[in-house]
Amino acid sequence: MNRFWETKTLAEMSRAEWESLCDGCGRCCLHKLEDEDTGDIYITSVACKLLDLKTCRCTNYTERTRLVPDCLELYSVGFEQYQWLPKTCAYRLLNDGKKLPTWHPLISKRENSVKKAGITVNRYAISETTVKDVNDLEDYVLELQS
Ligand code: SF4
Ligand code: SF4
Repeated sequence: MNRFWETKTLAEMSRAEWESLCDGCGRCCLHKLEDEDTGDIYITSVACKLLDLKTCRCTNYTERTRLVPDCLELYSVGFEQYQWLPKTCAYRLLNDGKKLPTWHPLISKRENSVKKAGITVNRYAISETTVKDVNDLEDYVLELQS
């Protein structure tokens, strides 16, 4: 099999190759909070309104940036924006010169290996549509992003 992610940079990949790197974890669709003083980023359990909490996939991928202006279009944003991605994300890993983990579908050849490894957010994410006040995201902080 062509292990393109080991021979090409992100910028050299075809769009199809690039898209296949997304493992469907849904972690980038959780709201984050940034400490203005320290720059620290905190991950919350509150997911974007368009995230399907069962499949951990966007329910309107093609229209997402129109419907959710804060949604990062990773393909076109600069790599410096990848600090907002979880440390398990293939884009961040490869951009940092790291390898894909064994549970990644391109390595495991199994789509459900991401869920089995506990990487998907389905166990703990709640939709922003069920949160009383989205200005109270501090109440939903899970951890400091590393
Ligand atoms: S964090 Fe990365 S791998 Fe996970 S859904 Fe987002 S873009 Fe895909
Ligand atoms: S619009 Fe879709 S891809 Fe963007 S954050 Fe929301 S669920 Fe995720």
